[in-house]
Amino acid sequence: METIQAERYAEQLSAELNEIQRKGLYRQLRRMDSASSRTVTVEGKPLLMFASNNYLGLSDDPRMIEASVIALRTFGTGSSGSRLTTGNFILHEQLEKQIAGFKNQQAAIVFNTGYMANLAALTALAGESDIIFSDEWNHASIIDGCRLSRAQTVVYRHADMADLQSKLANSSRYRRRLIVTDGVFSMDGDIAPLPEIVRLAEQFDAWVMVDDAHATGVLGERGSGTADYFGLSKQVMIQMGTLSKSIAAEGGYIAGSAELIDLLRNRARPFIYSTALPPAVIAAASCALRIIESEPERRVHLCRLATRVRSGLEELGCRVMKGNTPIIPVLIGDAETAVRMAGELEREGVFAPAIRPPTVPSGSSRIRLTVMASHTDADVDCLLHAFAAAGRRVGLL
Ligand SMILES: *Cc1c(COP(=O)(O)O)cnc(C)c1O
Repeated sequence: METIQAERYAEQLSAELNEIQRKGLYRQLRRMDSASSRTVTVEGKPLLMFASNNYLGLSDDPRMIEASVIALRTFGTGSSGSRLTTGNFILHEQLEKQIAGFKNQQAAIVFNTGYMANLAALTALAGESDIIFSDEWNHASIIDGCRLSRAQTVVYRHADMADLQSKLANSSRYRRRLIVTDGVFSMDGDIAPLPEIVRLAEQFDAWVMVDDAHATGVLGERGSGTADYFGLSKQVMIQMGTLSKSIAAEGGYIAGSAELIDLLRNRARPFIYSTALPPAVIAAASCALRIIESEPERRVHLCRLATRVRSGLEELGCRVMKGNTPIIPVLIGDAETAVRMAGELEREGVFAPAIRPPTVPSGSSRIRLTVMASHTDADVDCLLHAFAAAGRRVGLL
């Protein structure tokens, strides 16, 4: 028999869920029945994937799988402990050296997710006597890291350098000033104005931290990210990224000076108190970095296809947000229309879900398209055809 307390508990939770549903913000899981590739089977139905962060198409690369299998056979399934106890394998150490070289930094440290890397760095580097300046469109893991750090957090308007400057001008009483920004903004696909940020940081004696989740493997001469793209590898002291997007494994990292990495090993709670990533995942990430460094043609192809998608959508009359990355957001507006658009795209054979608040500001719901190096020109033709048909049915075009 249900107690009155259990009934109230269910009622309260249902009321909250109803409220989410009423706003058109209810989220449901979609089930993938195949590897995340250019085509995927979603709940039994084959679709063209245009929403994955697997930018270089490496997640089902036979070399990656082979590297994982060898690590699995050699070292087993789990790492069995945190890095500081029993979970530190030669694979972890090799990967950290590789990341440091790739990012042109002295050292690197791997965390279990990109989310944890941001929490780790922000909480280890900033505290009550410090101030963090954070772009208003920064990723949720940066926002959470700022909150958890207990530092004073000041949010500046997106990429607005005049706003950042005036906020920095009032911060001399703090011990440490830290400016943190996404390198490529995850839901918007634009690139942070890093040269100006670095200049302001020098003027006001602030540190710069860049989250390169979406730029790693994609931007820059060597594909190593936003700092590389702008030639500012030495000026950006704290370089964060994930192993779960273009690197197609799992995990996050911070790269920087030897002292920074040593401090994180000693102070970052997500590093100290969580079991290390398993050997198979680390081996896959190492393999991806080797591929990224030896096959620049993947980035070139990706960039060319992204440009084709952008101009094709603009010709159709879509509201494409400006940028030159493989993240191509098409603005729809209200959440319900965006969801209907995603449904129609799916009927046309394309998987690209709607992105709604609170992930993006209210009224700016969108279809966030992403291109992968594994896509072909024929895939882009299919996408544009699907967009035209779906857009007409929803009344957008
Ligand atoms: C995805 C993402 C993260 C989190 O990385 P995970 O490895 O998925 O935890 C952090 N920052 C940005 C900008 C991201 O897009």
